[in-house]
Amino acid sequence: MKYYKKENDRLVCLLCSYYCKLKEGQVGICGVNKNVGTTVECLVYGYISALNADPIEKKPLYHFLPDTKVLSLGTVGCNFKCPFCQNHGISQEKKIDKSRYLSPKDVVTLALRNNCKSIAFTYNEPTIFYPYAKDIAIEAKKHGLKNVYVSNGFESSEVIDDMKGIIDAVNIDLKCFTQSYYKKELGGNLEQVLENLKHFKRNGIWLEITTLIVPTKNDSKEELHNIAKFIKNELDIYTPWHISAFHPDYKDLDLPHTSVESLKLAFDLGKKEGLKYVYIGNVNLGNNTSCPNCNEVLLKRYRFKTIENNIIGGNCPKCNYKVEGVF
Ligand code: SF4
Repeated sequence: MKYYKKENDRLVCLLCSYYCKLKEGQVGICGVNKNVGTTVECLVYGYISALNADPIEKKPLYHFLPDTKVLSLGTVGCNFKCPFCQNHGISQEKKIDKSRYLSPKDVVTLALRNNCKSIAFTYNEPTIFYPYAKDIAIEAKKHGLKNVYVSNGFESSEVIDDMKGIIDAVNIDLKCFTQSYYKKELGGNLEQVLENLKHFKRNGIWLEITTLIVPTKNDSKEELHNIAKFIKNELDIYTPWHISAFHPDYKDLDLPHTSVESLKLAFDLGKKEGLKYVYIGNVNLGNNTSCPNCNEVLLKRYRFKTIENNIIGGNCPKCNYKVEGVF
């Protein structure tokens, strides 16, 4: 895809749903895509701020190549401004450290050398560095690696279409179910994120969803129930929903940690709604995967590690049910 289009004297960036209309010399909301006259340049292309070989469960992706390593990378910048961001040191940073450049080939070499089965674009919002992520992903495919995207779900529809056949799995934050919280405190907007979740699904990209439960902000029974209902009615009951605990960080230092009761409430609402794969990830509650058909434990996890994998060829070992995901 072409990452921008011309509109009168401006260039419109097509990477995310803000569609910033940039005059020459102007940088978009994310701070890292700039109208340089003839094109919109992704200023962070090649300049990585964080790089780690992580367990895939840490993304979190629980139904995608379990018990494998994923080379995870991010740059600086973000199109959102979440006050609880645990990676605010890079996401809200605009200064690009150009002391180390990694070409797409360099990244893939590192992934292979570290015995990773996939590459993840994560830590900050990957949509804002999609031109770099895409070039890495295409190179990765040549070597049999898969590609993963961990995102706030505010991509442009053009990018989601472009991802087809390149990005294999995504974990998307559904941060709340109220327009005002998105608009006033986080960025983007609820409708677009919901539309994008459906779009990923339509495009056949494996989708898992994460909701960070932030006390007093998105933890009402009604709101959590609305999220569970949306997943069931607009996606499907086999879409994994990761419920995640907040701890005070960045600007949200005065809020308490998420209570275990709150996490369990969300878990129960999801289960009651009929969702088959609900997980409380980062406090190690409700973390195993059971067969939706016969209830056999398929995957046992301890924190970010799969410690037992009983799936055989993508199927339940007891009843042969084909487990949803990529195995
Ligand atoms: S990536 Fe999004 S926020 Fe950044 S310039 Fe493009 S449209 Fe604007």
